[in-house]
Amino acid sequence: MTDTKNPGEKTLSVAPTKTLTLKRPGVEQGVVRQSFSHGRTKAVVVEKVKRRIGGEGKPEPAPTPSAPAPTTVQAGRRPGKSGGAPTSGAPAAKPSGVVLRTLTEEERSARAHALADAKVREAEERKVAEEDARRRNEQDARERAEREAAEARKREEEDRRRHDDEAKRRAEQEAKKRFGEEESKAAAAAPKPAPAARPAPTTRPAPARPATTTATPSTPINLRNIKPEAEEDEAPRTVRRGSGPPRPAPAPKPTRTGPAKQRGRLTVVTALSADEERERSVASFRRRVQRLKGHASSEPKEKLVREVTIPEVITIQELANRMSERAVDVIRMLMKQGQMVKITDTVDADTAQLVAEELGHTVKRVAESDVEEGLFDLVDDPDDLEARPAVVTIMGHVDHGKTSLLDAIRHANVVAGEAGGITQHIGAYQVTAPSGAKITFIDTPGHAAFTAMRARGAKVTDIVVLVVAADDGVMPQTIEAIQHAKAAKVPMIVAINKIDKPDAKPDRVRTELLQHEVQVESLGGDVLDVEVSAKQKINLDRLLETIGLQAEILELKANPRRDAEGTVIEAKLDRGRGPVATVLVQRGTLIVSDIVVAGAEWGRVRALVSDTGDSIEEAGPSVPVEILGFNGTPEAGDRLAVVDSEARAREVTNYRARQKREKQAARASGMRGSLEQMMSQLKTSGRKDLSLIIKADVQGSLEAIIGSVEKLGTEEVAARVISAGVGAITESDVTLAEASNCPVIGFNVRAHKEAREAAERAGIEIRYYNIIYNLVDDVKAAMSGLLPPTLRETMLGNAQILDIFNVSKVGKVAGCRVTDGTVERGANVRLIRDNVVIHEGKLSQLKRFKDDAKEVSAGQECGMAFESYQDMRVGDVIECYRVETVQRTL
Ligand code: GDP
Repeated sequence: MTDTKNPGEKTLSVAPTKTLTLKRPGVEQGVVRQSFSHGRTKAVVVEKVKRRIGGEGKPEPAPTPSAPAPTTVQAGRRPGKSGGAPTSGAPAAKPSGVVLRTLTEEERSARAHALADAKVREAEERKVAEEDARRRNEQDARERAEREAAEARKREEEDRRRHDDEAKRRAEQEAKKRFGEEESKAAAAAPKPAPAARPAPTTRPAPARPATTTATPSTPINLRNIKPEAEEDEAPRTVRRGSGPPRPAPAPKPTRTGPAKQRGRLTVVTALSADEERERSVASFRRRVQRLKGHASSEPKEKLVREVTIPEVITIQELANRMSERAVDVIRMLMKQGQMVKITDTVDADTAQLVAEELGHTVKRVAESDVEEGLFDLVDDPDDLEARPAVVTIMGHVDHGKTSLLDAIRHANVVAGEAGGITQHIGAYQVTAPSGAKITFIDTPGHAAFTAMRARGAKVTDIVVLVVAADDGVMPQTIEAIQHAKAAKVPMIVAINKIDKPDAKPDRVRTELLQHEVQVESLGGDVLDVEVSAKQKINLDRLLETIGLQAEILELKANPRRDAEGTVIEAKLDRGRGPVATVLVQRGTLIVSDIVVAGAEWGRVRALVSDTGDSIEEAGPSVPVEILGFNGTPEAGDRLAVVDSEARAREVTNYRARQKREKQAARASGMRGSLEQMMSQLKTSGRKDLSLIIKADVQGSLEAIIGSVEKLGTEEVAARVISAGVGAITESDVTLAEASNCPVIGFNVRAHKEAREAAERAGIEIRYYNIIYNLVDDVKAAMSGLLPPTLRETMLGNAQILDIFNVSKVGKVAGCRVTDGTVERGANVRLIRDNVVIHEGKLSQLKRFKDDAKEVSAGQECGMAFESYQDMRVGDVIECYRVETVQRTL
């Protein structure tokens, strides 16, 4: 149709107006009834124009059914328009007149028939075309709706992601541009049909021109005839488009044919499946938009915020996995921070946390130590709690009667068998107060051990009994004990001991305690005090009562129906029984065959031995008990817990053993250590170390010794325990001592025979002690020996130079008068001029009247010469002094 239309247009535009007149000679007219497939009929005037001989028109081509050149269709309704057709037909008729003349009537009618047939065919074609156009229009409308919907969506998205990065915006713009193009294309397509439609109106005047367009093929004429019909049908539909002037239906066709073709031929099937296509097209449209925007800037995936579990060390891969992020993103992030890593590299927990938080995740840090989680401090239901005995520690100055008191309470005399001085053996005992309440006493090796235990998180003691001898009063260790008790925030009960002694002054003790912020009840404070005598067993019951009273105030409770938890008070390696640990059960009940963990050791409880030496089956809260069955010796202060399986026990102890090893390794390497440590070592390089190897009978004593010895250290001198352990002194100890050139100290232990011989051979000193204070004192003395002595200056006298003499062989000699003190030969001197020290040195000569003098006292005159110094002047003062060396002590 398009094709045929355009030539028609051309023809018409060229056609001169003067042609086509009915009166014209040589024109034969006839009326043909044209019937359409849709039922309408039309009378069409057919003119036959005689060809003018020598006319400008080309000889008319032989009429074909598709191009009935001579026919002019005159639509009844629009004669003008239909007249347009004859215009083109007319010129054709003119030249062809000659030829046509020869045509017979039959031929003419045959031609008319052919023409009619052609019309019918054309009508059919047009119908199909119309249908086609309608569908396309519908499709257009659909597409437009889709586009609009997509645009609306896109606008929403734009609003939502306005903050998105540059690339995305650019992509969006591009996409928009594309849409713009499409729309403009669509818009451009609209005007296009308009001119195509217009030809129809322009053809309207054409009836005047037909004559001129001589050789125009007849096809256009036919089309033109058809067109008005099409317009009639299509016009209302095109108006719906609402864009610009009404466009005839065929108008969009030329532009739309392209896309339509892309979609394949329009058949009934495709037309019916248009709906499906629509759905697809929405999706595909979206995909296309995404493609245009580029993948990088595609809609952000819904962010998954996770709780990321981060161990102490994690690989990039694992970290990314746990965050549900891409590993590249993590690597990129680290690179930005200047850390070049591979996916398999590990980062520490801090870095990992930084990355995870940057990416908006929450972090849960876990440590290897989590294996210990749930071992201790599980909260008990308050309903399960039952009253438990108080745990009491007795503290005080040495010889104030701690052991005696404990012993008196236990009704057993251990003081007689003990070495005296200080309590070495560690244990715990349970006694029953007159009221019937049980009280557990812990016999600590010293205050340091008490604090050491506390430092490890083992709060064992509920009450501290401070023993102060009434005849001695508050002593240094009493003060220390007060400090320890206060630091542990443990209530105190003062036991004023040795009340039986004639010189006992209990009130003095009370007053002295005031100085240390311990205010007893009788002085208006809240600290309970009891006057006792351990020896005479006076007031012991009152002491126990007081303890019971204090315990009541504390409302001590524990849940006995659970797995036991406790603290190792003492541990030793027994020859016959293997590792033995004294444990104070703090919660739950410890039962034989429980699997226990303490420090880096674990074991299955083989037997439980009570404080009275009896074998027991179970031990409840506040009960001290000896455990047999440990695989190794735990340390005093280690917390003990019951676990459900050996595997768990191994897991925990393996971890702790590893920790311990690492700590030791760190300490060892710390000697060489970091730069900082090196610097500090350089600074204190003058410091002298007294190396020691210490062996003790029990862990508690060992710790107390190490603690006391290490405390002795100053900036100049320090004791360094290079090896310490529980048990007899062995050959290897001696070897180590030999290598380190240090003594071996045995506390309540002896050396093996081989070790003794080895020590003798190597000249290593082995010292035995059974009292910690003696040991500490000796170490202190040895350390003092390492201290550099102090130089003390003693002023002797001053002398004024009156004259200078030159003496041969001796040089210059100053003639002086001693103004104060004495001047001695061999003493140190300073030459002072105008209160400024000019020279320091020694006197070489001291003469009195030509004789050498030993010393010259004030008021006398003498001659003095300096060792290797000559520049003395009259008026200078010579200061004479002596330097003494004083040995220091710690
Ligand atoms: P610790 O070092 O604090 O354990 O003191 P001890 O218990 O070893 O006692 C030191 C000395 O004081 C021993 O000789 C006891 O006999 C003596 N002693 C302890 N308590 C009393 C007491 O109440 N009265 C008298 N007169 N002497 C006592």
